Amino acid sequence: MSRELREIITETKKQLEHLRVLGVEGIQVTAEPAIVAERPKPVVVAPRPGPVKPPPPPPVSMENVPPAKPRTSLFGEIAPAPVKLTPSTETFEQIHAEIGDCTRCPLHVERTHVVHTEGTRKARLMFVGEAPGADEDIQARPFVGRAGQLLTKIIEAIGLKREEVLIGNVNRCRPPGNRAPTTEEATTCKPYLLREIAIVQPEVIVVLGNTAMKNLLDTREGITRLRGRFQDYKGIKVMPTFHPAYLLRDPSKKRETWEDLKQVRAYLDSTASK
Ligand code: URA
Repeated sequence: MSRELREIITETKKQLEHLRVLGVEGIQVTAEPAIVAERPKPVVVAPRPGPVKPPPPPPVSMENVPPAKPRTSLFGEIAPAPVKLTPSTETFEQIHAEIGDCTRCPLHVERTHVVHTEGTRKARLMFVGEAPGADEDIQARPFVGRAGQLLTKIIEAIGLKREEVLIGNVNRCRPPGNRAPTTEEATTCKPYLLREIAIVQPEVIVVLGNTAMKNLLDTREGITRLRGRFQDYKGIKVMPTFHPAYLLRDPSKKRETWEDLKQVRAYLDSTASK
């Protein structure tokens, strides 16, 4: 057997074993395998005198291989199933009772109030920020300070009222000096937000700013790269956009934010009657 043929057989065996591990139960065997058809024909330099070579051994046996499924379904079977949110039977009240007078992370030391998600449980649209600021900490309500007032205007600009949406934060306690929550603090608090999302299953979540976006989407990408492009959280559309506090510092970014929110409005309109 020539070295080349032995290599082909070894490679073929490896490929078949790989497909078996992936759960493929059979493959289509054609009379002329593509691998043979695509190989360049060897250039014959001169006819060689000598003994006639024995015929090559038969190709790898495909006996006992069950009937092949169509190739299209082959790749369909290998692709991972999209992750979907499991419907929840919990209530916000149960979750908030469980959070209680939380001391699970260091943020509890300086906070005044735990700030829970607020809004209707029937919301089609949710806004998620980073963590409460000073005003929110005092009033025990999310987005009620200057940034919150701008958020209210943004919500109204797309034809909705605050009461018609959900508004929450990844962290429910104010970080001292409004610093960004640490990864550990976010990881401790985020599950409660995710459980609320599972209850309401809004059609769209707008994540406000880098920290909220990174925490919800588990991404290392920055807001400048992802804003304005719908992302996915377990089957829910997620639109990253700038945080209203950033818009207060740099009003020139309002135009891009408006473009992002127009996409959200258009998506909600497109699914309204479904
Ligand atoms: N910034 C946030 O991220 N959340 C609030 O609730 C207020 C300001």
